Amino acid sequence: GDKFASLEKFINLCKERVNKFSAIQTEQSKRLGYFMDWDRSYHTSSDENNYAIWNFLKVVSDKGWLYKGHDSVPWCPRCGTAISQHEILTEEYKELNHESVFFKLPIRERKDEYLLVWTTTPWTIPSNIAVAVNVKEDYIAYNMDGEKLWFMKKRLRDLESQGILKGDKSKPEILKGKDLIGWEYDAPFDDIPLVKKTLGNYIHRVIDGEDVVTEEEGTGLLHVATGAGEEDFKLGLKEKLPVISSIEEDASYVKDMGEFAGKNAKWHPEIIIEYLRKREGGRFLLTTQMYKHRYPTCWRCKTELVWRVVDEWYIAMDKKDKSGKTYREQMMGVAKKINWMPSWGLERELDWLKNMHDWLISKERYWGLALPIWECKKCHSIDVIGGKEELKKKAVEGFDKFDGNSPHRPWIDQVKIKCAHCGEITRRITDVGNVWLDAGIVPFSTMPENWFPADFITESFPGQFKNWFYSLIAMSTALKNENSFKRVLGFASVRDENGEEMHKSKGNSIEFNEAADKIGVDVMRWMYLKQDPETNLNFGYHVADEVRRFFHLRLWNVYSFFVTYANLNNFVPREGLDLPLENVLDKWIVSRLNQSIKNVTTFIEKYQADKAVEDIENFIINDLSNWYVRRSRDRVALYAEDEDKKACLITLWFVLTEYSKLLVPFIPFISEEIYTNLTGEDSVHLADWPEYKEELIDGNLNREISQARAVVEIAHAQRKEMGIKVRQPLSLLSVKSPIVLSNEVKKLIADEVNVEEVKNIKGEVDVKLETRITDLLKQKGEVRDIIRKIQEERKKIGTNLDQEVDVSLPNWSKEFEKDIKKKALVRNLSKGDFKVVKL
Ligand SMILES: [Zn+2]
Ligand SMILES: [Zn+2]
Repeated sequence: GDKFASLEKFINLCKERVNKFSAIQTEQSKRLGYFMDWDRSYHTSSDENNYAIWNFLKVVSDKGWLYKGHDSVPWCPRCGTAISQHEILTEEYKELNHESVFFKLPIRERKDEYLLVWTTTPWTIPSNIAVAVNVKEDYIAYNMDGEKLWFMKKRLRDLESQGILKGDKSKPEILKGKDLIGWEYDAPFDDIPLVKKTLGNYIHRVIDGEDVVTEEEGTGLLHVATGAGEEDFKLGLKEKLPVISSIEEDASYVKDMGEFAGKNAKWHPEIIIEYLRKREGGRFLLTTQMYKHRYPTCWRCKTELVWRVVDEWYIAMDKKDKSGKTYREQMMGVAKKINWMPSWGLERELDWLKNMHDWLISKERYWGLALPIWECKKCHSIDVIGGKEELKKKAVEGFDKFDGNSPHRPWIDQVKIKCAHCGEITRRITDVGNVWLDAGIVPFSTMPENWFPADFITESFPGQFKNWFYSLIAMSTALKNENSFKRVLGFASVRDENGEEMHKSKGNSIEFNEAADKIGVDVMRWMYLKQDPETNLNFGYHVADEVRRFFHLRLWNVYSFFVTYANLNNFVPREGLDLPLENVLDKWIVSRLNQSIKNVTTFIEKYQADKAVEDIENFIINDLSNWYVRRSRDRVALYAEDEDKKACLITLWFVLTEYSKLLVPFIPFISEEIYTNLTGEDSVHLADWPEYKEELIDGNLNREISQARAVVEIAHAQRKEMGIKVRQPLSLLSVKSPIVLSNEVKKLIADEVNVEEVKNIKGEVDVKLETRITDLLKQKGEVRDIIRKIQEERKKIGTNLDQEVDVSLPNWSKEFEKDIKKKALVRNLSKGDFKVVKL
């Protein structure tokens, strides 16, 4: 019907789709805790983006780098479009089985002699133009069934062992490859109209292919189909060979292909093999063989690619501009100015820049950047338009109809301009642009000018050296000869829990919202932050559970410990309170807090999130949870001494609020909860990054406590070895240590190890427990047991921490009755069977 109307409808649907999915992405990003200027998100489809790319292309064209090339390109038959070299990544190659063909080409002037040729792509045989030899190698004429088959001598053993050849006992004729050059031959498809027409007076022949003919596989005689392969096409240019373009956009044979017309070349290789089998009694076919090899597929739809010779638009890499340097050279210079993390990224990028072909920027599609190239059908000159204003000035037709629309098809196609050379009215070419043009222009189309170059970008490695990193470098090199970003952090891939690639079809992929529901985004973020970015992340629910248990729950327990005892003791933190720093534990944890803030700040400034996470976990788990809070339980109990209790609560409040400011970029949701609840302020995200005070970092104390903890560990191990539980008090722990321990620290050790006294002298580390248990010690142990038993029962029957209970016990030591009552909050203690009663 109306082509304009249906195209307009299609493009509008594309736009709707873009809006739908970008909205989903925005919502997911918000849920993940991204802070962004969401109202000013950039869209590659925006007018600014499109016109900025127009400008880039104009600049490139002015430098003489933009050209239309007639070339053999990888092609996706399903998508119906060229695939640029950038889009064929290593992972786009699949291990595939194809029926390879050994075919024979009768040599003119040599009766019953044939060139033996091999191909893995039977559909290309009709496009055969020539056969290439390696001029330096020996070729033999192998006798088989009264015929002579020519191929490279070095391939003999393989071909025999594969059973392709039957075993010739006679002495074969041997010639150098160069002697074969110029031999003419007939090919099986010479009667097909397209072939006949394309060949004209040309006769198939043997050509020099020294650089491309290998001894690794095949027959050492290379099937050259200039219309169906990249190397072939190049060879054809050199040798001035004709090109048979046998397939359409969908890989079906063109209408001049006789009986094959309309049939799909790629899906039905058997039609070609069948033809060879029948043609002239099968004289062209030796045999076929299944062959496994790595074959490129489409990144978008995974369809196997073919090669077609088509007109496409390119940016030249090896032409000099006014500076006297090529685009390639300039880009390599710019790449070196960037700080690559990990550093080997630079090598990878340079390697790509060194080897890449000219940049194929066109695509035969409808939706996407409309390439701003107006081509004159008469004199073939082109006009590249650099922006809307320029277009308006040059337009001779259709601008009024276009105005008010985005510069997309079909609207833009209405604008016609006059050829600057011959005055002919010209139209825009119908191609759209490669998507990486869209991604590479952002530093110019979207980023505020005074941000240039951006401080930091990050993306997953696979592919980006050829794609995003590449296009960013390409575009800023052409426009400014500068890098558009100072630093790039590349990271490896996400895999499933077993290290396997995630695929929807495999059933092991995890959808974002489902993961966010089940795992929680703060845990999810932690998993990523904890990861060394150079190695793949194994992502899944079990790993998530471990991470949560290991870190988030411990942090939460510290927080709820504080909240519980703050409430119990009616503790209300005041603005600007002074840290008492009397108790050695308080001094130490504040010292460690400052140390950790310093470390984490340093790591973040170096973009080492995983190292920062390691430090945070060490602080929260080892120091705060395992030591400070555990050693402070008695300090905040109801019966504890008031001043010290207050000191502990103030310190813990301070540590939690300060540290939650530091946790913000890692776990924005939990830190917000902790901070707002502890301070009553609006948001932790409005707070400044915490500053450490160097003078509060007490290196000596940190070392002393480390030593104390090492001592404690040994002492606990000794108790365990001797079967004496920790609740049983012992009289003495003798410690030798390199650092002399202060009385406060000795007291800490005594409490932790449950001994009455710690004696310490300087020396090599040595720890000795006095294990003799006197009657009095035994009694004290029993009292501890009783208190513990009552505490457990209190928990079981659900008493509040400040609620008194009545307890009956079979017996207890009267001497310690006060102690029991105080520590277990007992009102009346009576004789009888063990029982705890809530009041
Ligand atoms: Zn495709
Ligand atoms: Zn013209």
